[in-house]
Amino acid sequence: MRISVIGCGYLGAVHASAMAELGHDVVGIDVDAAKIAQLAIGKPPFFEPGLPEVLTSAMSSGRLRFSTDIADAAGSQVHFIAVGTPQKPGSYSADLRYVDASIESLIPHLADGDLVVGKSTVPVGTAARLADLIEAGSGASLAWNPEFLREGFAVQDTISPDRLVYGVAPGPQGEHATALLNEIYATALAADTPLVITDYATAELVKVAANAFLATKISFINAMAEIAEVTGADVTQLADAIGYDGRIGRRFLGAGVGFGGGCLPKDIRAFTARAEELGRGESVAFLKEIDKINLRRRQRVVDLTVGALGATVYNAKVAVLGLSFKPHSDDVRDSPALDVAVQLRGLGAEVVATDPQAIENSRARHPQLQYSSSLEDTLRGADAVVLVTEWPEFRHLDPVWAGSLVKTKTVVDGRNALDPAVWRAAGWTYYGLGRP
Ligand code: NAD
Repeated sequence: MRISVIGCGYLGAVHASAMAELGHDVVGIDVDAAKIAQLAIGKPPFFEPGLPEVLTSAMSSGRLRFSTDIADAAGSQVHFIAVGTPQKPGSYSADLRYVDASIESLIPHLADGDLVVGKSTVPVGTAARLADLIEAGSGASLAWNPEFLREGFAVQDTISPDRLVYGVAPGPQGEHATALLNEIYATALAADTPLVITDYATAELVKVAANAFLATKISFINAMAEIAEVTGADVTQLADAIGYDGRIGRRFLGAGVGFGGGCLPKDIRAFTARAEELGRGESVAFLKEIDKINLRRRQRVVDLTVGALGATVYNAKVAVLGLSFKPHSDDVRDSPALDVAVQLRGLGAEVVATDPQAIENSRARHPQLQYSSSLEDTLRGADAVVLVTEWPEFRHLDPVWAGSLVKTKTVVDGRNALDPAVWRAAGWTYYGLGRP
């Protein structure tokens, strides 16, 4: 199948590479010339495990190319829309300007029978509006196929998704869309991947509902951590105990500094904004509380660090371990780790931050912070160590070695990633979130 993928960021670059790897003939298109120049020489413009390998393999097969020219979408039968839908500045709503611009630029290049497939996360109602635009301007039609990949596992999640959702128009148009999508995802379908074929609104809502649920689960356990903190209880044991209940499950019950990234925070905010527009603000008003709990946890890590340093961080050297919003990613969009580093710097601390992959992205946003690619240099002479992204190298940090480098053995474990008993036995003062 000839496919175009419009928008080659975290989602689109992986989708384009994975579709070519599955045997399709793909052109990836983006307005960012620097990104396309890198992709065109087989170099991912961001860190994603496994992507360099599929990108190289797909390009050498001759089935994958990249372009900045939307006219190169002509000739493809299916056009995936994978552009960004960030939070609108000064509002909770999603900014749909990139989606609208990509559709407008694509319409003149669509042929009869082509299918445009939305993958970006959008407010419910967007697909119906875009379908009208596409049908008025061409003989093509629209499907919505939300994406559930996790950064850090994006290649695997794209090639072997845990479910597929098609939002399609009723009648023959929908049947045509379903047939094309079935052909594209033949490998996953042959492996019995669950498939839900539905209408546009349900497909759009599935994605935001899934993210709302995940955000709720994280903020739920973080709310329990807040109660544990005033009662002396241990939230990690609580999570283990409730997680044994099959109806609850242990995953996503890691209390800590909270969620971040380019999806969960902006998706729950956009959901509340859209629900308000629809006159159903009260139905998802609880998501505002989920957001507040989440942001309070960042403040808690900052407060714990300040308290540990004796009420002032001025001129104290704070070693911040982690900058990306989660391990195995270089993504620092709305990263709790970077936020904590910035807040501590704002209070006058001499922050030195390290991360295996996210230093360059962090420096671009916050040049005022001091960065080091050496864990040893980051720790040397520190008055406090703050772990905020649970990369394996931080999770498995040797407290004896780290203790030989720092000035004061104080650690704030913002991810409950360390074993307090082991760190205390090595002479450290340990602070976790929601545990004594
Ligand atoms: P991103 O910012 O990394 O990538 C978006 C890309 O779109 C950028 O490279 C940008 O230059 C390009 N773009 C913008 N306007 C364009 C246009 N008119 N024509 C062509 N390209 C254009 O964002 P992302 O993380 O890849 O997210 C994209 C969408 O996918 C969002 O809606 C997001 O919510 C959703 N999503 C992301 C993930 C994820 O883990 N990153 C997972 C599921 C869904």
